[in-house]
Amino acid sequence: MAASIKLEIVTPERVVVDESVRTVVAPGLLGEFGVLPGHTSFLTALKLGALRYENSSGKTCYVFIREGFAEVLPDKVTILAEAAERRKDIDLARAEAAYQRAKERMERKSREAEVDFARARAALSRSIQRIRLASGEERH
Ligand code: ATP
Repeated sequence: MAASIKLEIVTPERVVVDESVRTVVAPGLLGEFGVLPGHTSFLTALKLGALRYENSSGKTCYVFIREGFAEVLPDKVTILAEAAERRKDIDLARAEAAYQRAKERMERKSREAEVDFARARAALSRSIQRIRLASGEERH
C-alpha cells in the first residue's frame, strides 16, 4: 500500500496544491470525509468549506474550497474547485470587504426587489469562510 497520497487541487485559473501528503480531510456535500493512503476509490461533490491535509513533514495545512468535486483513488486525491486558496494566500481585507458588500446587499433587499438575495447570501458565506480560515479560527 502507498505510504502517501498525491494531492492535487485545481481551479479553472491555477494549480493550488500539488504535493505528496499523509492525510486529507475534505468538506463533502454529505459531510466531512477523511482519506488515508489506500482508500477505496470514490467520487463526490464538495461544498463550500475548508480542506485540510497533513503534509509530508506532518504539518497541517488548510485550503479554502468554493465547491467542486473530489476524485479519490488509493494513492491520489484530485479536487476540482470553482475557486481555492491556501490559508496563507487569503487576502483578509478583500474577504472583509466582500463580507460588508454582501451584508449591505442583503439589508437592502427588503427595500429593493432587484437585489439577488441568494447571490448575496452565497457571497456572504464565502467571505465568512475565508475570514474564519485566514484569521485562524478554523481548527478541528
Ligand atoms: P470577491 O467579491 O472578493 O471577488 P468572491 O467570493 O466573489 O469574492 P470568488 O468568485 O470565489 O470571489 O473568486 C474569484 C477569484 O478570486 C478566485 O481566483 C479566488 O481564488 C480569488 N479570491 C476571492 N477572494 C479572495 C480572497 N479574499 N483572497 C484571495 N483570493 C481571493
